[in-house]
Amino acid sequence: MLPGDENGAVNGADPQVLCADHIVDVDLKSIVLVMNDKKYECELCGKADAVEVAPLSELFEAILQTLNFIYGTSDDELLRENEGGNYHGPDMTAADVVRVLCGQVFSDDVSALCLDIVANAIENATNGKLFTNLPALLDTADLVWKRDKLTELVKEESRFVIVQQLQASIGPVSRTPSPPVLLGRLLGELVSFGEHHLNLVKQLPEGTEVYRGRLVNRRDEIDPPTIEKLGPPLGRHAAANRMSPAGISMFYAAEDVQTAIAEIASHDIKPMAMMGTFQLKKVLWVLDLTQGVSPFRARSYEDILKIYFLQHFEEALAAPTIPDSASHDQIDYAPTQIVTEYIRWASETPVDGIAFRSSQTSCKNYVFFAGPEKTKEDFDLTEVALYDVYRSAEGRKREA
Ligand SMILES: [Zn+2]
Repeated sequence: MLPGDENGAVNGADPQVLCADHIVDVDLKSIVLVMNDKKYECELCGKADAVEVAPLSELFEAILQTLNFIYGTSDDELLRENEGGNYHGPDMTAADVVRVLCGQVFSDDVSALCLDIVANAIENATNGKLFTNLPALLDTADLVWKRDKLTELVKEESRFVIVQQLQASIGPVSRTPSPPVLLGRLLGELVSFGEHHLNLVKQLPEGTEVYRGRLVNRRDEIDPPTIEKLGPPLGRHAAANRMSPAGISMFYAAEDVQTAIAEIASHDIKPMAMMGTFQLKKVLWVLDLTQGVSPFRARSYEDILKIYFLQHFEEALAAPTIPDSASHDQIDYAPTQIVTEYIRWASETPVDGIAFRSSQTSCKNYVFFAGPEKTKEDFDLTEVALYDVYRSAEGRKREA
């Protein structure tokens, strides 16, 4: 049992609450948020007139529910091997699983304390049992969502995706789907989940400004700096990137000029940047992965796997590209390129691009599915400015 009765009250007293602001996971916050006329005292910071609060009992319940999609208790009868032996698998304490699931849930200043409070509550609610990952226990044949599966298929089996399997009129029916068919299914379910369940497709209004540019050695190197010269290259000049293979031109940009400079400056050493402001001439739609895809939106274990896949996909998009690594370009970028092409050509809701977080500044990056011609149709170049580029040689010790 969780502490408190179903209204969260203990012995008729006020329920124990946190200020809602201590929760930074937007989805979890929306599940547990209560707004009152009454004022409450926060268990954490002691603020006495909190109005937007999260009752602790509801917070514990929401976390435990999601936790149950991912973990089982490892001494559960179901989890024992059939022949009566004890379960031999990875064991995790309540503190372990809470750290994994809730590491990004609370604001930094209170995170450690909150994780302790939640871990204690979960430990009480589950009588101190140990947890184990469900994938270790379930039939792995159904776990096609394991993110490694798609990566493995793309890297080692097929770059060809069959979006709908055609009914074969003659010939034997193959029992196992071929890699292109399997890829089509995986991508179809994944993208549909992102669009419909998570509502990740967002509108960019007409007039929105994004930034992109080129590094230069001299101020007159790009003269005049036109939309053709600052926009995406012609296909034959387009280099391989995380989202686009060599030869397919896409429009990479950022929501602010400093992010755009940081992104291009990580590839080259030229001292200046000629930056363009590109303004949208019409509404565009993007699959926005930057809002955070929280596991607390899941309603099943399969949802959890899809959410983790999308998180991993965004991390892969944001990871810095490594110059001069031809074989990496070919193989390591293939999975993100295939997912991007699927989103571009085959998603149910047509989208014009993808938004993801920059690893350089944490602001928003965009890739628009536009080569030079479409860029001129969709954008105006409204301003051009020259920047000196400062690079830091600051070192930061790696975490072990
Ligand atoms: Zn507080």
